[in-house]
Amino acid sequence: MAVEESRSEKKTDSQTFFQTKKLDVTIGILSRTPRQSIKSTSWQYSFERLNSQSRYNFIPIFLSAKELNNAVASDELDFVICDAIYYLMLEKQYGLLRLLTRSEQHSETFITSEGLSVYTWDKNSDIIRLKDLKDKNIGIVDINSSISWLFLEKFLSNHGLISKININITPINEIEQSLILLQSGTFDAIISKSGLLDKHIAAEKMENLRLINPRRGWQAPFLHSSVLIPEWPLSKAWYIDNKLASKVVSLLLNRHNTASNEPNEENSYFLPQYSWDIAQNYNAINELFSLSEHIEINTSSRAEGSSKKMQYWISFIAICFLVGILIMYLRSSRDLNNRLTTSKESLEQEIKERQHAQEQALTHQAELAHVARLSTMGEMASGLAHELNQPLSAIHTYVQGCIRRINMGNTDLDAIVNALQLTAQQADRAGGIIRRLRSFVRKGESHKTYSEINQIISEVTGFLETQLKNKQVNLILDLEEDLPPVLADIIQIEQVLINLLKNGIESMSGIEKPSIIVSTRRSNHKYIELCVIDSGHGISEDKLKRIFNPFFTTKNSGMGMGLSISSSIIEAHDGKLYAENNTEQGARFCLTLPISEEHLGSNNNE
Ligand code: ADP
Repeated sequence: MAVEESRSEKKTDSQTFFQTKKLDVTIGILSRTPRQSIKSTSWQYSFERLNSQSRYNFIPIFLSAKELNNAVASDELDFVICDAIYYLMLEKQYGLLRLLTRSEQHSETFITSEGLSVYTWDKNSDIIRLKDLKDKNIGIVDINSSISWLFLEKFLSNHGLISKININITPINEIEQSLILLQSGTFDAIISKSGLLDKHIAAEKMENLRLINPRRGWQAPFLHSSVLIPEWPLSKAWYIDNKLASKVVSLLLNRHNTASNEPNEENSYFLPQYSWDIAQNYNAINELFSLSEHIEINTSSRAEGSSKKMQYWISFIAICFLVGILIMYLRSSRDLNNRLTTSKESLEQEIKERQHAQEQALTHQAELAHVARLSTMGEMASGLAHELNQPLSAIHTYVQGCIRRINMGNTDLDAIVNALQLTAQQADRAGGIIRRLRSFVRKGESHKTYSEINQIISEVTGFLETQLKNKQVNLILDLEEDLPPVLADIIQIEQVLINLLKNGIESMSGIEKPSIIVSTRRSNHKYIELCVIDSGHGISEDKLKRIFNPFFTTKNSGMGMGLSISSSIIEAHDGKLYAENNTEQGARFCLTLPISEEHLGSNNNE
């Protein structure tokens, strides 16, 4: 047990009689940066508070994830401070119990939720969405090991970015240095714990930085790029009694009894001092993670026979028993063996045939979808030409201006450089439109990634902006925040959405004040539902039954393939597309997409 007599205590003669020896209490802190002293870390204030009493000597021990696991396994730590996700794994294996949750001060409020913010330089026009960070250099601002790396890993993989495989990650310990490296182009983006860079950027008025995938959650007063999870907990080992646990809680919770030790406001700006709050609900993490996939830590060093070991032995004996029975059974019947071989071969053959048929169906569907996208592009050509025309006209005007100045002998270089910069910006804008177009009409096999449905909607509505404007359609977005990602082929889902929106716009011709609502919500825990609701003429009962049939159309120049392809795309995503009339006016087309297994909470799986 780690509580023992302190050797470091100095005694004077007069004190000796009354002296009670301090008892050592160890607190393990998860840290990627090895260090000996608590001084100049964000934990300093917490330890000053803990050691402000005379009975215990609280000792901080900074440990890597593996070291922390081994130390908890061999009961060397009395208390543990680590990120919430890592804590859940340790709780599962070693029965840790969380007492408090770390909180950080932002202006007047204390925040107990943690998220990730991804910033890029505004001029990096090729980085719009998180998935654009593929093959890029990313700096991770990890001051005082403030980030949960398991959370970061999950965040990156949810956006199709697997660390070290298709992005290059460099941890960095200073905000300023990270910003300099971003500015110099060494990094294409930087990721930090939410709130950290935001404070700095606001204080320095750095308007040329752009937050990617901005979200607003009610738990935090700043924008962030990821969902929010609870902050780091402080937990006690299974053998620590309630008396000592209560002592720790009361020392850390009572924020106002040692005013002299309060963190220095000015200092805390660059070196945030953590404070503590009551323990938080962890359902959000269970929903975000399937924890089992992360448990890769060697647990064999635990000395006492744990229930895990017991389970292994029971499974081992059960497997031996079953194998024994199987051997006896096989020996007693050679025929059975032959039959098994034959049926295995035919089963393999059948599986191959099915796979082949499935692949063919997918290729066929991808080709069909591609043709439909080309046709959609054809229909939208005039709108896109208009969109392209704007930056091209601007470029023309700026360049004409420059030529005029030069011809007139005006040598104001600053003005010319300024005009050329504006020209370059407009060229970037035109390039962006072309890039979006090219990726949309790209021919390709279905390629699913974890995608944010609201992000897809904002991309598509940007795409259709000109068309909506021309038809004076009022677009209303009613999007639920913090939806879990879906596993989807972004281009295909964009295609479905464009089709639904185009149909909606076309159904409202001649209608006064045409409007379309696009809404998203979590439905039945397991699905995300997206609806496109128009205020058009609606669909008659007999047509409602046929609109998903191939080649069914009521339009003069219609192909009647849009809804049929859209419905097969959604079915290939294990979802459903259906249509109904609104009670008052117009029609609604809704689609569901399943939330991937690992983003479902354990309760929801039941
Ligand atoms: P197309 O648009 O080429 O006709 P679709 O498969 O997209 O092909 O649509 C089939 C038919 O479904 C349309 O011709 C139209 O009659 C009907 N339809 C689709 N969307 C709507 C809507 N929002 N309101 C009314 N009718 C619609």
